[in-house]
Amino acid sequence: MVVVLRPETAPEKIEHLRAWLEEKRLIVREFRGQEQCVLGLIGDTGPIDIDMLRSLDIVESVAEMRDPFKAANRAIHPEDTVVRTTDGLSEAIGGGHFGLIAGPCSVESREQILAVAEAVKASGANFFRGGAFKPRTSPYDFQGLGAEGLDLLLEVKKLTGLPIVTELMDIRSIELFEQVDVIQVGARNTQNYDLLRELGKLKNPVLLKRGLAGTIKELLMSAEYIMASGNENVILCERGIRTYESAYTRNTLDLSAVPVLKSLTHLPVVVDPSHGTGRADLVPSMALAAVAAGADGLMIEVHNDPPRALSDGAQSLTPEEFDDMAKRIFKVREAVM
Ligand code: PEP
Ligand code: MN
Repeated sequence: MVVVLRPETAPEKIEHLRAWLEEKRLIVREFRGQEQCVLGLIGDTGPIDIDMLRSLDIVESVAEMRDPFKAANRAIHPEDTVVRTTDGLSEAIGGGHFGLIAGPCSVESREQILAVAEAVKASGANFFRGGAFKPRTSPYDFQGLGAEGLDLLLEVKKLTGLPIVTELMDIRSIELFEQVDVIQVGARNTQNYDLLRELGKLKNPVLLKRGLAGTIKELLMSAEYIMASGNENVILCERGIRTYESAYTRNTLDLSAVPVLKSLTHLPVVVDPSHGTGRADLVPSMALAAVAAGADGLMIEVHNDPPRALSDGAQSLTPEEFDDMAKRIFKVREAVM
């Protein structure tokens, strides 16, 4: 249920109503914008008399919230959420802050990630990505450097100042991720609800990817798991879904998900055209289209030597290609803002 309060309602009156609602065992999410104060009621609203609530002098309107996602719902948080890194590096995504996340699929060596990080930073990237724990389809493929890869990422963060984004695959390694700026949940784990609940107990921003064949609603319900457990710092990521097409693209990048999500939720939406297409030659055009569609950020795989990459070389841009694309991204962003 969504309760919109009259403008300029006294804070004591809001507190009073809030306490009364909480006595009814409801979770109350309060949104205070420039003009509006909205209370989102989560839980069993059955015992609440809507007409009585409507008749209160501080209440402007009351509406039922039919969507199963509540905390993520734009109805209870009309303005865009800005997700900020927790360590004071002051990078942010959402609400007008653009996140250009770039880096290799996998962390391969110190030299490799440092070279890529310096290059993408010079091109305007404000987050560095790299997988230390890799979900690979084959157990015989490179599985990532694990904890050592995380240490290398943290070192590169110190050297470049770029906050890092890296994937957590297993609850058992969650303690290693304490200093990670943005914890990525990969497409294979989007519905690993135990993992999502644990991430909900942290403060670190979470970049939640859409499942391999996940619907938009399923993605939002996964975000809801993290938020319901207490972590509101969730960034959604469209990374393509599986469709009939498999000959010419790795996945089908669903760019319509961007405006759909932006209307349904206040959470930032980022697009990953690298996994979304699987082809480096298609990445720039889809990245530009994603920005035009209103994405709050992009995640782009960049490798200094794509043919020799230990994972996802075919979809990785070189630093030069990234630089060329980044220039065009900033232009498109300016044009559509
Ligand atoms: C990745 O970002 O390298 C990755 C494995 O992504 P996804 O989970 O979208 O496949
Ligand atoms: Mn990858």
